[in-house]
Order: sequence, then structure tokens, then C-alpha cells
Amino acid sequence: MSGVSPAIVAPLLQWYDEGHRDLPWRAQPTPYRVWVSEIMLQQTRVQAVLGYFSRWMEALPDVRALAKADEAIYLKLWEGLGYYSRVRNLHRAAVEVCEKYSGELPADYDALLSLPGIGEYTAGAIASIACGIPVPAVDGNVLRVAARLDNDLTPITDTAFKKRTRERFAALMPADRPGDLNQSLMELGAMVCLPNGAPLCGDCPVQHLCLGYHHGNAALLPLRAAKKARRIENRTVLLLRYGTLVGLTRRPKTGLLAGLWELPALDGHLSPDETRQALAARGWQVAKLLSLRPAKHVFTHVEWHMNGYYIELANRPDELTFVSPSALRAEYALPSAFRAFLSVIEEET
Ligand code: SF4
Repeated sequence: MSGVSPAIVAPLLQWYDEGHRDLPWRAQPTPYRVWVSEIMLQQTRVQAVLGYFSRWMEALPDVRALAKADEAIYLKLWEGLGYYSRVRNLHRAAVEVCEKYSGELPADYDALLSLPGIGEYTAGAIASIACGIPVPAVDGNVLRVAARLDNDLTPITDTAFKKRTRERFAALMPADRPGDLNQSLMELGAMVCLPNGAPLCGDCPVQHLCLGYHHGNAALLPLRAAKKARRIENRTVLLLRYGTLVGLTRRPKTGLLAGLWELPALDGHLSPDETRQALAARGWQVAKLLSLRPAKHVFTHVEWHMNGYYIELANRPDELTFVSPSALRAEYALPSAFRAFLSVIEEET
């Protein structure tokens, strides 16, 4: 029996060599491409990232191009991927890399780790895959594989478990192929040792070394710590029209979706009459008001439960920014939380 031990290295590398997904960032694993792909892949499926990645590389092919890019450009390229602090950190880090490292990501794990938005996993992925440095890259997928290999009942969100797992994989890193070992573990987690009780143990190259499998626990692991309930926020979203234009506002500079454009919203679920009164109190004259289909959006710690109204205004409030529907689509990166309401004006030009 083995668990996470040197015995898993050879079968994993052999399995990886025999066939793995052909992904664009694997074809030319430069530090920049690995970095951008890993940040995009956080919280997002590979299939969804493919289009974003190719558009990004076409528009911003290197660190310098990203450092010089206007906020509107990189936010637009990110639109729909969510978790916008990720793209803001990408930009901040690119500026720092230009200032400190002449536009080349440093081939040094600790220096990578010090950059905005780069944590242990991403630093490990860039250092090992693009620079050949023998450090582990342990994300949620790899933690799940480790819990199963070791038949470990500790929840994988446990900080001590994460630290222990990183140390154990660090001790296994082959000097000649650290990036391939990390990628074989990621690939195993993505294609075979699947989450939600569905590992394909019959296809697994390390089944004979897996303690979870031998104890009949593979599908039951990893155990999860009890989740904290998300906070529910009720909102009334306003699709405000003045003529053909659409009214937008900007979110505060800190907090959820910081600094992004959004459709104006009122706190709570307001009835049509309450909404008219709230707008009248601001001096916004409602000419017509129609109810929209409610929508829900789930963030990491908060859920928005949204009612919505399509409202034609008789005056143009100065505190809002009014844009055409085509400009809205082309130039303004609105969070995907508003997608359901914007579908009403999708076809307009
Ligand atoms: Fe995962 Fe099953 Fe392979 Fe164990 S044998 S590592 S549980 S796929």
C-alpha cells in the first residue's frame, strides 16, 4: 500500500505521457500563458475558459501589453468570467513585473508568490510548468486526489491538511519533470478522480496504490466541513431607459464587484408602487414601468435575489450614465449577475 508516496510518480507520468487534453496553454507553456490560464481557470471550467484565453492572448499577448492596457479593455475581455478582483490583480501584477523585472515574470517561486493575485497554487504552477522549478501546485482537485490516495478523513478545507499535502507533494517532485507531475495530478483530478462521489477508479493509473480505493471509501472522500450559509440580499434591479439609452451606475471602489458598472438597484423587493415612490423621491420621473422576470445570482458568500423593472424615464437624471445598447455590449463590462435583465434589450442596436 502506498498513498501519496514516491511510488505514484512513475505511473502518473507514464499515464500523462500516453495522452492528456490538448489545451492551448500547454502547447506553449510560457510563464505569461500559464499565469493567465491559471487565473482564468480559478472557479471556472476549462471549456468555458478556452474562448476567453484565445481572445485574451490575441489582444494582450504579453506582460507589457497587459500592463499598458486600459481598464475597459481587460475588463471587457474578462466579462462573464466573474470574480473581477482576479483580472484587476492580473493587471496590477503585470505593472509590477514591468517595473521590477523588465516585463518578464520572475523564474522564482517566492518572487512569483509576492505578486498580486498569485497564491501558492498559481506560483507553483507557473514555476514548475513554465520554469521547471520543482515545487508542487496544490489546488482543490489535487487535495481531493490526496485525500483519496491517503484515505484521509480530514476535510480538504482544513489548513493543516493543505499544508501537509503541499509538503508531501514537494518531497515527490522529480527534478527533471516537476511541471509534468503537477499537470498529471491536475489531469487526474479533472478527468479520472472526479469530484462529487464519482471517481473513475477503473481508469486510474494509481488505483493499485490508492488507500481510499482499497478501503472502499473512494466515492465518499473527501469529507467536507459544514458550510457557512450565504447571506441573502434582496434587490430591485432597474433597467432604466431614457429614449433608446440605458442608465448605468458604478459600484463602490471596494467590496463585491468593486468599481464595476451595473444596473441601478434598490434594496429589498419593492412593488411597482414602492419603486415609483422611491424614484420620485430622487426626482426621477417614471413614464412607464413593466415588471421583469425575477433572477438569482450566487456569489461565494452572498446570493442576490432580484426583482426587476423595465422603466422608461421622462427625465434624464444627472447622477446616472446613459449609454446606447450597442455601446453597453461593446464597451461596458457588466457583471453576469445582470444578464437576465439585459436579455430584454439584447437585439437592440
Ligand atoms: Fe482517485 Fe479512484 Fe484513482 Fe484513488 S483509485 S486516486 S479514488 S480515481
